[in-house]
Amino acid sequence: MLSIAIDGPSGAGKSTISRLVSQKIGFIYVDTGALYRTIALYMLENGIDTADGDAVTANLGSISIETKHIDGMQRMFLNGRDVSDDIRRPELSLLASAVSAIPSVRAFLLETQRDFARKNNVIMDGRDIGTTVLPDADLKIYLTATAEDRANRRYLEQKEKGFDVDYDSILADINKRDYNDSHRAVSPLTKAPDAVLVDTTGNELEKSIRILHELIISELKLEK
Ligand code: C5P
Repeated sequence: MLSIAIDGPSGAGKSTISRLVSQKIGFIYVDTGALYRTIALYMLENGIDTADGDAVTANLGSISIETKHIDGMQRMFLNGRDVSDDIRRPELSLLASAVSAIPSVRAFLLETQRDFARKNNVIMDGRDIGTTVLPDADLKIYLTATAEDRANRRYLEQKEKGFDVDYDSILADINKRDYNDSHRAVSPLTKAPDAVLVDTTGNELEKSIRILHELIISELKLEK
């Protein structure tokens, strides 16, 4: 099986680019942020404070997460309920970032993530895929862009989905998540030494897709 790890900060285009490139090369796309978002949703719905690590840990046993790939789209099920749309609500972003700093949560999700890569050719995106989840990935990419560029993209995306958003609070959210993700004690966001750095600042989506597609094809020697 072949695995491609794509890490980087929020909003660099990881999920959109990974999904589209995985379709081109026939790999399964695994969005690991969705796993953290699903745990955060459970905590939110059950009134558990995501800042309280002990309370979050005590509740993990009540959570069953299932991931299904339907028509190339990853769908998330929380205790049997399809929560794929709910986990995209803007307030889940920071809550997911909070639960992701809790070591028991990361441990809880580790095998689930590795299992995908054992059974499928995958493009897996997240924050610690190349450093922790799949340290032996066949190709590691670190995808980044300036915070302003990422905030602008997220703003347009959320607006299109009909969410009531403003640019300044999105930029603040991105800066806060960058800080949380790169300063946590366990698996902080960092570029693996052997990851290829790709900066998407100022790129149209099509251009970033082309760059990643070509990089993957040449590094893994795949058929065009
Ligand atoms: O990628 P997405 O924005 O959906 O991820 C939500 C949050 O989950 C991130 O801000 C990050 O804190 C966390 N996360 C993580 N490790 C991953 C994927 C996501 O810590 N592999």
